Amino acid sequence: MPDSTASPSVLLVEDDAPLTDLLCDLLAEEGYAVEVATDGHRGLHLGLTRRFDLIVLDRGLPVLSGLEVLRALRRQAVDTPTLVLTARGALDDRGEGLDAGAEDYLVKPFEVPELLARLRALRRRRFEGAEQLPVGRRRLDLASRTVIGHDTAVELSASECALLAVLAEAPGQVFTRSQLLLSAFDGADDPGTVDTYVHYLRRKLGRDVVQTVRGVGYRLGAR
Ligand code: CA
Repeated sequence: MPDSTASPSVLLVEDDAPLTDLLCDLLAEEGYAVEVATDGHRGLHLGLTRRFDLIVLDRGLPVLSGLEVLRALRRQAVDTPTLVLTARGALDDRGEGLDAGAEDYLVKPFEVPELLARLRALRRRRFEGAEQLPVGRRRLDLASRTVIGHDTAVELSASECALLAVLAEAPGQVFTRSQLLLSAFDGADDPGTVDTYVHYLRRKLGRDVVQTVRGVGYRLGAR
């Protein structure tokens, strides 16, 4: 479970200063809370002692290489979804990165939208690992996109399910519309999309299923 901040958190381990600055700005714009480590030792320390939603890990790093960091994290059962960046593009490199426990692999130089799309996919895949999420006294079954109650079953559309899953995965957290766009709607850019789908969810599941937090956004309802 992520910590109490509502933004998804990313650990960026990268020693190229201009690239780090650029990525920090872009990830922050996308709604991520970014923590930076500029060498492998610091990256490993942060990865072992703090909880992140995602890790972006450069392969060529001072002190410890990216793959050494990743193997050490996996040995300690840190299963945070990790995208490895590399300057080398040989197929062997890719295999080695995936063997070390990376979920994905991106060759430099890369297009930023490509990186952001890959990170969104990694976050989505995390939800797919869970089968059911509690929604008040009901539960959301992700495979069938159904909200199951004592004697009720309500089917959701893919977008309704994605939105409710993001809220239900972190009950108590307040999400801004831009965070929900990022997490549930693939970074679509109209904040009204969120309001529309909240409306659909309330119509199907009752007004209390999603709570409006005035001036901020939404969270999972208490019931
Ligand atoms: Ca590097």
